[in-house]
Amino acid sequence: MRMAATEPKVSATVDFDRGGKHFGYLGIPHSRNESGWGAVHLPIVSIKNGQGPTLVCTGGNHGDEYEGPIALMKLARALDPGEISGRVILIPALNYPAVMAGTRVSPIDGVNMNRAFPGERSGTVSAMIAHYVQTRILPLADGLLDIHSGGKTLMFSPFACYHRIADSAVMEQAKAAALAFGAPISLELVELDAEGMIDTSVEEMGKVFVGTELGGGGTTTTETVAIAETGIRNLLAHFGILDETPQTREARGLPPTRRMHMPDPDCYVIAEDGGIYEALLDLDSPVEEGDAVGQVHFPEKPERAPAVYRAKRPGTLIGRTHKALIEPGDFLALIAEEV
Ligand SMILES: [Zn+2]
Repeated sequence: MRMAATEPKVSATVDFDRGGKHFGYLGIPHSRNESGWGAVHLPIVSIKNGQGPTLVCTGGNHGDEYEGPIALMKLARALDPGEISGRVILIPALNYPAVMAGTRVSPIDGVNMNRAFPGERSGTVSAMIAHYVQTRILPLADGLLDIHSGGKTLMFSPFACYHRIADSAVMEQAKAAALAFGAPISLELVELDAEGMIDTSVEEMGKVFVGTELGGGGTTTTETVAIAETGIRNLLAHFGILDETPQTREARGLPPTRRMHMPDPDCYVIAEDGGIYEALLDLDSPVEEGDAVGQVHFPEKPERAPAVYRAKRPGTLIGRTHKALIEPGDFLALIAEEV
């Protein structure tokens, strides 16, 4: 039997309309030298009970970011369908081949999953995953939570984020949802390059998107995993899927969420030199315009003075490079401003 040319080539083993909890996978055709007629099996979990909204939660969009996969697998095992009203669709490892390889982008096709949307029906493995999510999962969703952290090369002060978008009603919903997540920081994020992101696909459908950056360095801490786990449950409660009160940071004896924004692209500090980066400020440091945030040393010329990188605006340093060996064009630092 031939598939209609508009049907995804990816198939799911779970029926998202069925009640109860179902573990299954997306089958993505991947015939290759090591496996003729083979496929990639990408795990997916659907939990449904009664009537209510649908929240889709994704982790492992980048394969070297671990809070999402850990927190979503724990939730998938723990959540009882009887606890919820509505539906939760969990994809702990959206770029499954990258997660299994511990790499940011897919080892199969070199594609960054968060630049692959809306995907292609008959494209590479990453493009087919994106196409399935775009055409079969996102239409089911009222909101989407995509859990990122810095991966092997970046480090962030943990934040939940939403974007400044044209639809102000949806933006207000996303802002409230990001705040309900209860991370140390809630950020109105301006992307360097938003085309091809799952975020943009969700927002273009008029749905609520919440993202996170919860740490980085290609590992986790007890704090960043706890932020992810609490945040997901808080978001489920915010959507009315879980009948519980969101745990605010204050209720947990922590300082309240700091609300921040990025007024302009000057929030980013980008390298123009290659060499060894020495951070001069730690995360959460307050900065004034002109403050040195770091400097690049030139190992081939020890006599040469380092190139100093300065903040182009005041604020708080909430992101930095985690790697020290820098090339021109690398991200060095992110400065956001308290609202
Ligand atoms: Zn990421």
